[in-house]
Amino acid sequence: MSAEAPVELDQDALRSALQHTRDALAREQANFQALSDEVQRDKTLFRRVQELALIGGWQWNRASDALYLTSEALHILGAASPPTTMLAMLGCLLPDDRQRLQTTLASISEGTGFDLELQGVQADSTPFWVSVIGEPDPQDPAHDRFSGTLQDITDRKRAEAELRHQARTDALTGLLNRDAILDVVASQLRSGAGAHLALLYIDLDRFKIVNDLLGHDAGDQLLVEAAQRIRSAVGHEGHIARFGGDEFLVATRTDTDQDHPERLARVIQGAFLVPFRLGKDDFSVTTSIGISRGSSDGNTSRQLIQNADVAMYESKRRRRNGFHTFSPALAQRQQERLQTETRLRRAVDNNEFHLVYQPQVDLRSGRIFAAEALLRWHNPELGPMDPDRFIDLAESTGEIVRIGRWVLQEACHQMRRWKEQELPIERVSVNVSYRQFVGENLAGSVQQMLEEAALPGHALELELTERVLVEDAADTSEVFDDLRKLGVRLSIDDFGEGYSALNYLRRLPIHALKLSHGFLQGIPGNKSDEAICQTVVGIARSLGLGMIAEGIETEAQRDHLLRLGVTIGQGFLFAPGLLPGEFGKRLATQA
Ligand code: C2E
Ligand code: MG
Ligand code: MG
Repeated sequence: MSAEAPVELDQDALRSALQHTRDALAREQANFQALSDEVQRDKTLFRRVQELALIGGWQWNRASDALYLTSEALHILGAASPPTTMLAMLGCLLPDDRQRLQTTLASISEGTGFDLELQGVQADSTPFWVSVIGEPDPQDPAHDRFSGTLQDITDRKRAEAELRHQARTDALTGLLNRDAILDVVASQLRSGAGAHLALLYIDLDRFKIVNDLLGHDAGDQLLVEAAQRIRSAVGHEGHIARFGGDEFLVATRTDTDQDHPERLARVIQGAFLVPFRLGKDDFSVTTSIGISRGSSDGNTSRQLIQNADVAMYESKRRRRNGFHTFSPALAQRQQERLQTETRLRRAVDNNEFHLVYQPQVDLRSGRIFAAEALLRWHNPELGPMDPDRFIDLAESTGEIVRIGRWVLQEACHQMRRWKEQELPIERVSVNVSYRQFVGENLAGSVQQMLEEAALPGHALELELTERVLVEDAADTSEVFDDLRKLGVRLSIDDFGEGYSALNYLRRLPIHALKLSHGFLQGIPGNKSDEAICQTVVGIARSLGLGMIAEGIETEAQRDHLLRLGVTIGQGFLFAPGLLPGEFGKRLATQA
């Protein structure tokens, strides 16, 4: 038997192989160390990035409900104990958002992701906002695994909310602004709560006077204080907005009390009883309020606000410092007003106006010496109309300026025709609106009309109401001067009814006062009417002014006036307004 010879080990080769292996191992170890350093560094970096970006990661298994959250995700949620299930994480959210996330998670399927902004509260009651993004794990064939990020967006949400707040706030008063209250009203209407909604449209009376008189700073101060008063009057019973310059809007509810808006209006008006202190002076500023209700007055915010505005105007028209509730009848009147306005605008061009002339007579003899031109409007649809029914409207739209020019021209032409017929008439008297004093070159048109009709200035008298004198147009006295230079007579119509600022009588070149027929009604007999007539006559006499009585209906009135020394007048006792032909006939018979 031959024994195998033992393998001769080459010690050197062995040593070298061993060394080689050791080296390789060391290299591997070094590599591994480097790798693990890298992983460690990546991990650290990743954590830092998460912290800086306020972003965390999550992984969730739908089947087992196991949830893994990175440390930053845990930090953002700030739960008392770290959530390890989705159910626990949902507990960190507000109920509505909990529901949203739950519904979303239940419905995601392969290939779909989601992106939600959710609101929650930390264990120490700090509120937070998170953006949660997630998608199913593509490596998981069962589609049970989801992962994604969770980012803290609280700061952004706060900034957005602040911007939203600013965009909805009136900078001066801190109340809601126009856009915001429109949103409030619209959203209440959308949500079906419109039937219990009511609006109060509040306008400050006399604000313009304060603003013009004391300047814009005082105006602003007044608005701020008015806003405070409205706010404390309304309390928590409504949304309050500054709707325009000096206009405020309150949106309130009528759920438990149908008369709540009216009650609130009274409380608001009560809050304005105390005068406003501006500088060293006290100013009394009141409010006019219009009310509309969602149950009856409109189903869009525009309609409701417009109707509250219409009611506010009605209130202002009747008396200031009051409130008025919108009604369909009011809308009807408003509608008619609008229609009349439209027709009035076309009336001059359509030749719908004519003038009647009321004789002005010598009260002793009954002899006619002049005429007052009175405007009549005959519209085919509306029928014949006295000026009491449309002059106000024409004044408010400004149309009176054009109409007034037509009246002047027509009266001058008529005067020319009577002169050509050699009828004995001294002058024609024309009523002029305060608007014509500010709205156009009145003296210029008067001069032109006189020239066209070849009349001397004294053939024309203009009747002004006291309103001309208190509407503080800067150039009023210039117009008066120019008219006086033309030789035109000026009288104050309806004297005593208006503003009783007697000092203007000394200041302006007035020729006569027309005693308002309102004061004639009680004479003879009514002591106070008699006293007023006597006083007006006394004023005219002491200032060297002429005196015309108007609205004389009875002989007793005429006799009383004669006893007071008033010798000229007009009224139904002598004649109403007459068509030019009839007027001419009367003149002719007394010639
Ligand atoms: P007014 O200038 O004071 O005119 C007198 C008004 O009293 C006229 O009413 C006239 O018809 C009426 N009247 C005359 N005699 C009597 C009487 O004995 N008893 C009563 N109860 N009334 C009498 P009218 O024509 O309806 O005019 C009303 C007002 O309309 C005028 O008052 C005047 O202020 C304004 N007005 C009339 N025509 C014009 C016009 O062309 N332009 C402007 N701006 N206003 C005018
Ligand atoms: Mg008159
Ligand atoms: Mg009058």
